[in-house]
Amino acid sequence: MSETIFSKIIRREIPADIVYEDDLSLAFNDINPQAPVHLLIIPKKPIATINDIQEDDRELVGHLYWVAAKLAAEMGFADDGYRTVMNCGENSGQTVFHIHLHLLAGQPMGWPPYSDKRKQA
Ligand code: 5GP
Repeated sequence: MSETIFSKIIRREIPADIVYEDDLSLAFNDINPQAPVHLLIIPKKPIATINDIQEDDRELVGHLYWVAAKLAAEMGFADDGYRTVMNCGENSGQTVFHIHLHLLAGQPMGWPPYSDKRKQA
């Protein structure tokens, strides 16, 4: 897959506000936050989209959710609740093709997340 901005963040070639790192993953503040807390949790292994997740990646993807729960507990919003989102492809609005778990918190959120661009049935 082609290189993304997130590979450059992992290699510290461009700055990011990193809040967590371990051998498998990195978490940092989204540059354009959509909630009072908006983190991106990414695997260090570049995987373009959910469609590209392989059998061997199952533990790695689960790890991203474990990091989300850990950060929610440590940052104090686990009990209030939060949203995790992993977009996939054009209809979802995915713009960076290195999978990432959005972790949004700090205010009540609406549902469902349709936009005016939705297709008419
Ligand atoms: P997507 O739309 O692909 O699900 O989400 C990509 C996210 O990456 C967006 O929320 C966008 O604001 C964020 N983003 C894009 N470029 C950068 C960057 O250089 N630094 C950081 N911290 N976030 C970025």
